[in-house]
Amino acid sequence: MPGQKPIRVLVWDEKPSHAPKSVYPESINGAVAKGLNELGDGHIKAVMANIEELEQGVSEHTLSQTDVLIWWGHARHGEVQESTASRVYHAVHDRGMGFIALHSAHYSKPFQWVVKCSGNLGGWREATPADTEEITVCAPRHPIAKGVEDFMLDQEEMYAAPFDTPAPHAVVFQSFFPMGGEYFPTGICWQLGEGKHPHAGRAFYFRPGHETYPTYFDPNVKVILKNAVLWCAKRV
Ligand code: ZN
Repeated sequence: MPGQKPIRVLVWDEKPSHAPKSVYPESINGAVAKGLNELGDGHIKAVMANIEELEQGVSEHTLSQTDVLIWWGHARHGEVQESTASRVYHAVHDRGMGFIALHSAHYSKPFQWVVKCSGNLGGWREATPADTEEITVCAPRHPIAKGVEDFMLDQEEMYAAPFDTPAPHAVVFQSFFPMGGEYFPTGICWQLGEGKHPHAGRAFYFRPGHETYPTYFDPNVKVILKNAVLWCAKRV
């Protein structure tokens, strides 16, 4: 990518201390940003934002300087204002900002607005001991799957299909949970704008990432998120 400016990524979560410090000493957004900066090799500049900041961390000015927004939320979806979701929606749909929703962000307003869906799940389970999650690469030629082969996460929360979203343009990864036999479309992507708005952005949803498990330190997950940033920024 010679001559191209670094991709500016904003990684959002609810507040710096939401995830257990023993698992995520720098919160979830810190772990994700660090992984992207490591693997991005100078082509990605990831920074953090959270709900406690001015304009809930996503002011008009901040979004105007963001190429890809990554959103992790869980306990404070209800506090995210409609005006916040609206700013994110317009950045994606009107000027092509990329959007990545992680795990429980399936119920966040920005995801529901951007992708236009309820985000309802068929079921979920936070088990003790935790579920094992087997992830299969369904679209090996998709840029988000580059360098990734089938892999397993030893501990995760389970989500079951069906997942109420518009039909994705690609199911890049699918999960299987052997404890209960459930499946979930775990890594899916959309080109937004229904083909009528060429400036609309791309979106990716990635399921793993419950806050009590070290999922965002997993080497495969880090590669997937880096690939997703490149794809959502329309660099691949
Ligand atoms: Zn969770």
